[in-house]
Amino acid sequence: MPPGSIIIQMGIVSKQKNNPPLVLATILLLAACASPTTPTPAPSPRVAPAVATPSASPMPTATTTRIPTATPTAFVTAPAPDQAAIVPILMYHNLRDLPNDASELQRTWTVAPKHFEAQMNYLAQRGFRTITMAQLIAHLRERQPLPVKPIVISFDDGWREQYTVAFPILKKYGLIGTFFVYTNPLGYGQFLTWTQLQEMAAAGMDIQSHTLSHPHLRTLAPDAAMKEIAESKALLERRLGKPVIAFSYPYGEYDPAVIEMLKRAGYASAVTLATGYRQRADELFALRRIRVSYADTLEEFAGRLPQ
Ligand SMILES: [Zn+2]
Repeated sequence: MPPGSIIIQMGIVSKQKNNPPLVLATILLLAACASPTTPTPAPSPRVAPAVATPSASPMPTATTTRIPTATPTAFVTAPAPDQAAIVPILMYHNLRDLPNDASELQRTWTVAPKHFEAQMNYLAQRGFRTITMAQLIAHLRERQPLPVKPIVISFDDGWREQYTVAFPILKKYGLIGTFFVYTNPLGYGQFLTWTQLQEMAAAGMDIQSHTLSHPHLRTLAPDAAMKEIAESKALLERRLGKPVIAFSYPYGEYDPAVIEMLKRAGYASAVTLATGYRQRADELFALRRIRVSYADTLEEFAGRLPQ
């Protein structure tokens, strides 16, 4: 959860009100008095992966069949290089009920579980199709088609409720979530455990990186910043057995040097706190998101999505 900070995005400076930072001491303190619940998982609706059927026919006109999802309908092709693709990326952090006297900061970065479920129900009813970051990258970079009404549902930080609240609701509606976790607190206090993360990954959820310790990357020494970027990727890939190709900037802070480090470490894209749903192929490391907050009505939520 990002603290109050100055967000600098490619020369644009804005004041961002956020929650206080969580330091490891706090995490360890929380770990001593909190035990994450591990409810029995329900079988998850897996989304069929894209399958290319190789041609066994000697006929030169044999075609290749692509089955991107269980119920293929129409697809959107990639935009021209100088145009934007319309792909909203929703941004969630905490999912819990807040007391009436909750601070403005808490209300900014939290969504009530019943609101979250209503939002997911809305997306499913309106025919939105969740895609992974790999699909979005392939669309922007290699012009691979996407299902109509594509959307990414992203979660930052790795809060425990992303397993106890979000994961069952996503499965219920046949949706995929993209979880940007920072790895140091996993298994402690209010955060996901590795076992939970492994279960989510095995169920088709998209797990991506948010560093090791959630630092201010631009002010770190280059070696330390590179360690945060590269080692979190390697650790997630080793423990989950899936490629990690997308990154969420802690506090939304980045600059050209940070982007260069991400590219060197093997990432293909990164998400920001900038608002919008128009994503450009030449801005793969500055993808925009739509923040969902506690006070948002379903009407307001729907109004921020492409119609
Ligand atoms: Zn964060």
